Amino acid sequence: MSKLVKLHDLSFEPFITAAQIKQRIDEIGKEISNKFEGQKPLFIAILNGAFVFAADLVRACDIESEIIFIRLTSYHGLESSGTIKTVIGLDVDIKNRHIIIIEDIVDSGRTMHHFYNDLKEKSPASISLATLLIKPGALQFPIKPEYIGFEIPTKFVIGYGLDYDGLGRNYEDIYHLKEN
Ligand code: 5GP
Ligand code: MG
Repeated sequence: MSKLVKLHDLSFEPFITAAQIKQRIDEIGKEISNKFEGQKPLFIAILNGAFVFAADLVRACDIESEIIFIRLTSYHGLESSGTIKTVIGLDVDIKNRHIIIIEDIVDSGRTMHHFYNDLKEKSPASISLATLLIKPGALQFPIKPEYIGFEIPTKFVIGYGLDYDGLGRNYEDIYHLKEN
């Protein structure tokens, strides 16, 4: 694994390797496949951050499924802004569908709390959440993901789809902010 990554004004150090990520996603893919076999779940991946995780997770599932993408934003730089905006919305009917949300990271839980409530009003058969990362120490909303890749400390991370002001999404490994 390579060493420091510099993005804008900050340095990030290695945290979770691509191999560790792959192994965990294969496990989650098996769990989801067992649970949703024959139910043709609809994955809803949250852009931008979850695009890499979503691509790997759906390929780790060997059942019939569909995937669509939506875009929500709340983050600016290193901090959540508090307001959730829907930039690209749902364009399919989810009534009676089994929904599996694919998210990159749950921090305060605000984004997912807001989105869950929106989805519930559309009468899906079920809603599950698969998040690659969660920061239990930062949670402020009652979010309990069914599938969690890694529980991590409350520290800003980049790579594997996650960015710092637009940069860093292309790294295969996950890095966290280097303390000085
Ligand atoms: P929440 O609404 O749970 O506070 O924040 C969720 C969103 O904030 C995530 O979907 C993600 O886009 C962004 N986010 C939260 N923590 C981090 C982080 O450590 N790194 C990056 N790059 N984005 C984060
Ligand atoms: Mg996100």
